[in-house]
Amino acid sequence: MSTQAIYDVLRALTAAGLVRRIQPAGSVARYESRVGDNHHHVVCRSCGAIADVDCAVGEPPCLTPSDDRGYVIDEAEVVYWGRCPACTSSASI
Ligand SMILES: [Zn+2]
Ligand SMILES: [Zn+2]
Repeated sequence: MSTQAIYDVLRALTAAGLVRRIQPAGSVARYESRVGDNHHHVVCRSCGAIADVDCAVGEPPCLTPSDDRGYVIDEAEVVYWGRCPACTSSASI
């Protein structure tokens, strides 16, 4: 398959809700098959590692906006930024 064909398939899967596209600022897009459970991601600023975070504290959608502008919100997309354990320990040596 060509790269373009792969992207076309991924786009179709994303539109169908079968995969989720995640693209932290400054990173290439990634796709994951874990969808629909309102989980979030933690991203390492140093090496770009991404890990899943099951949920923010509280009930889904985890974050209640101070003003929802009348929208019915069912998902909050949260990206936590920081440094992964590997980068934290290598920096402290
Ligand atoms: Zn790291
Ligand atoms: Zn995930």
